[in-house]
Amino acid sequence: MDYELMKKLSEADGVSSEEGEVAKLMLEEFKKRGLTAEIDNFGNVIAYKTLSKNPLILGAHMDEIGLMVKHVDEKGFLRFIKIGGIDDRTLVNQQVLVKTSKGLIPGVIGSKPPHIMRDEERKTTIDYKSLFIDIGAVSGDEVRKMGVEIGNTVTFPTQFKKMGSKMMSGKALDNRLGCYVLLQLAEQLSDNVILMGTTQEEVSTFGKGAMTASYRLEPRGFIAVDTSVAGDHPELKPDDAPVYLGKGPTIVLVEAGARGNVAEKKFAQKILEVAKKAKVNVQLEVIDGGATDAASVHNIRGGIPSIGICIPTRYIHSTVAVAHEDDVENDIKLLKMVVKEM
Ligand SMILES: [Zn+2]
Repeated sequence: MDYELMKKLSEADGVSSEEGEVAKLMLEEFKKRGLTAEIDNFGNVIAYKTLSKNPLILGAHMDEIGLMVKHVDEKGFLRFIKIGGIDDRTLVNQQVLVKTSKGLIPGVIGSKPPHIMRDEERKTTIDYKSLFIDIGAVSGDEVRKMGVEIGNTVTFPTQFKKMGSKMMSGKALDNRLGCYVLLQLAEQLSDNVILMGTTQEEVSTFGKGAMTASYRLEPRGFIAVDTSVAGDHPELKPDDAPVYLGKGPTIVLVEAGARGNVAEKKFAQKILEVAKKAKVNVQLEVIDGGATDAASVHNIRGGIPSIGICIPTRYIHSTVAVAHEDDVENDIKLLKMVVKEM
């Protein structure tokens, strides 16, 4: 695995609606690998070798969960909204980076220390609305002089690390792992296949970028290359999330309790046949909460056969996640064969 490239992808900032830095990186990497690549009106990166009618699209969302500055008070503290589904508990006392036109401004998310909490406060989860960002300013004027403005996005300075012999940790593995996989498919890409980095997936059951681009491009099929929740760590029961790190990519048959994509039967069957032919072990997945970009493409126009193929990932939708190298390599192996056969 090219850990240097994976580190670059993980540490690039791209909170939903501000995916530009990731899009630029993807555009350059696709071009380096000999593809034609462009950024469309909605910020999606579209890359291909040759293009004719009704391509197959493989889409990986480039955006990540994060925060956005909502209010600056006169003492110099920032209030924020959440962008995407972040667990409030993971925000308390985290270091953050505010992305401004003058560069990244470091800060921390402040909260009341336990010493002065009332008993009932200690027992309840902190709501993000009672949290604030401290950037070391002493007044609203100083905040503005530092370049911070309402609407700036906020990310986490989590460094990408290798762990153990085959694992990795970092921020935004959901879904820079998918972005990494697309880049590895670029060099031997078949004709009339599009590799697409999509925008604004984390902020809706229906990924906005994937929907707008797929409507325009009229694909014959859509594969969301994404991550899903692994259930192989303490405090989870086997039926909570029955997919595991190191056991292969997952084939998502049903998303969001069938409110998201329900994989078209023949399309799913073909993928399973291809997996067998490629000798890649896969895990089948039926998801109650959570969806991929496939949810936003399967029911546009006359209906487009769609499916999610995911890398199992621990702790997603927090400031850090963990994944296994073998799942990434097997995902690439499977999708190389899918592109050739479908
Ligand atoms: Zn995702």
